[in-house]
Amino acid sequence: MSDILLAFAARGLSQGSWGSWLAWLLVTTQLTILAVTLYLHRSQTHRSVDFHPLVAHALRFWSWLGTGMVTREWVAIHRKHHARVETADDPHSPQVHGIGTVFWRGAELYRAASAHREDIERYGRGTPDDWIERHLYTPRASWGPALMLLLDVALFGVAGVAIWAVQMAWIPLWAAGVVNGLGHWWGYRNFETADTSTNLSPWGLWIGGEELHNNHHAYPGSARFALRRFEVDLGWIVIRGLAALGLARVLRVAPALDIRANVGLPDADTARALLAQRFRVMSEYFHGVIAPTLREEAASAGANLKALPRRLRRALGNGGRWLDAASRERLGAFTEGCPRLQRVCEFRARLAALIERNGRNGDALLEALRDWCHEAEASGIRALQEFSARLKGYRLVGEAA
Ligand SMILES: [Zn+2]
Ligand SMILES: [Zn+2]
Repeated sequence: MSDILLAFAARGLSQGSWGSWLAWLLVTTQLTILAVTLYLHRSQTHRSVDFHPLVAHALRFWSWLGTGMVTREWVAIHRKHHARVETADDPHSPQVHGIGTVFWRGAELYRAASAHREDIERYGRGTPDDWIERHLYTPRASWGPALMLLLDVALFGVAGVAIWAVQMAWIPLWAAGVVNGLGHWWGYRNFETADTSTNLSPWGLWIGGEELHNNHHAYPGSARFALRRFEVDLGWIVIRGLAALGLARVLRVAPALDIRANVGLPDADTARALLAQRFRVMSEYFHGVIAPTLREEAASAGANLKALPRRLRRALGNGGRWLDAASRERLGAFTEGCPRLQRVCEFRARLAALIERNGRNGDALLEALRDWCHEAEASGIRALQEFSARLKGYRLVGEAA
């Protein structure tokens, strides 16, 4: 009898060893990531995809089992992040709280945010409020992880406790620390969004596509996060698979852009595309106009571009919005000696203001856009002229995000 007990304690019901522990960890942590990205994030928070009730509940159940997080709280905190991004009200902005705090203590920030009950009610509207939510998932949130611990120990004996510890650390580390922290700190940007979001890697395989965080901030309503040819979004692959089986319905994806040739004057299609693709436009302006002008100016002045750190060069794409006073001064001193660079930066600021003031009526926007293009073409700066010609041809393909 004691031999049986000892064997159970050592290896559990599975009697498995390293290989099976790792396989179980891989499967369960990926399921948890999928429950978060597909159910909590894309479906509940942003309503970009609908799942068959059975799939939706399976994901919701797994999110309870694997994380013990309450759907309404998660959704509310994340919606608030989008609504108040990089301000003092953002629940987890590295700009406000510092990268160290968001990375290492992201779970604490999450708990603090969930204590704001008014926000949870306000931002958490439309999340499940059925019998099982009111009697189990919300009031007994910690029972999910407790049940997972029992399951781990039953399957693997004492090793199950270590497996459980890894499972429980998964979301605090990858979602709270890596996505919320590093995803607003380090990586590449496709879109000049009005925040510091970044894509951590073009292959969002490990965290279900959530690594493509700059793409997500550019088009929060899009069910697909991968937007460039080399980007892969695992969550989207799963959605496509479920949709093929009739178990998911995609509600929205990011609009695609079409460039018409030889458009003389910007028209209503141009203006619509410009507003829907505003972050992309600003990113194209940086790469197509500011960066080449910067290189030319530096070459003609014999200046060494390396003298200006990359961080400062990149800041020209957003008017130095995230720089501290000293860095902004340093950048100002550099651009002072480069009149053409200054000129294209002024054009950038005017274009950004034009897009951001999108509350104005369509005719006024169109008129301002026509003036901008006209002046850009008369500027004598080739990169700016080419950008303007391309901009006029913008037209949306598909629906707006
Ligand atoms: Zn974010
Ligand atoms: Zn989001």
